[in-house]
Amino acid sequence: MSKLNIVLFGPPGAGKGTQSNFLIERYGLVHLSTGDLLRAEIKAESPLGKEAKELMDQGELVDDAIVIGMIRNKMEAHLDAKGFIFDGFPRTTPQAEALDAMLEGKGEPISHMLALEVPEAELVKRLIGRGATSGRADDKDEAIIKNRIREYENKTAPLKDYYRAQGKYTPVDGVGSMEEITERLVKAIG
Ligand code: ADP
Repeated sequence: MSKLNIVLFGPPGAGKGTQSNFLIERYGLVHLSTGDLLRAEIKAESPLGKEAKELMDQGELVDDAIVIGMIRNKMEAHLDAKGFIFDGFPRTTPQAEALDAMLEGKGEPISHMLALEVPEAELVKRLIGRGATSGRADDKDEAIIKNRIREYENKTAPLKDYYRAQGKYTPVDGVGSMEEITERLVKAIG
């Protein structure tokens, strides 16, 4: 059976992490979140974590080579997975190209790129709300939140065209209850 490899795409605060949790359960997939992997490195106080923390705390993207390497390692650790949900990756064109190259080598291309669409004012509201409980430094300050959204618009949103050209880009309304949004994603997966 062919594998189900999903890119769950969207700006910071769009709900990628929350929805990933539903989708991994439902389809038996492995969740690969570069944000979670980077926060684990920070917690472990590794050299990589120290380098990443400075960038993440400012709302800047971490270097492509670092996140691509982390994804490659995790994929190799789960060779028998039914498929993957890529959450927060790819975020740049070089990342998307590297992911395609890795998957092509295995004959298991991306099945769907699902893009959660949420207006900016709602994103800022959600992230500030999350900052009150998450303890994440990058959720506390409105200027840093705005910087993350700017990084998304400049470097990440262009990937919609990248996946559109492959016939895989599927926009999904990311405003509504958690269950409603899950339903929309499940429908899009088909
Ligand atoms: P959010 O989607 O809410 O921004 P993430 O956990 O996905 O949360 O990302 C948090 C931070 O981690 C980003 O602002 C960025 O600094 C870094 N990061 C995560 N994934 C990537 C990636 N693929 N490329 C570069 N930086 C990344």
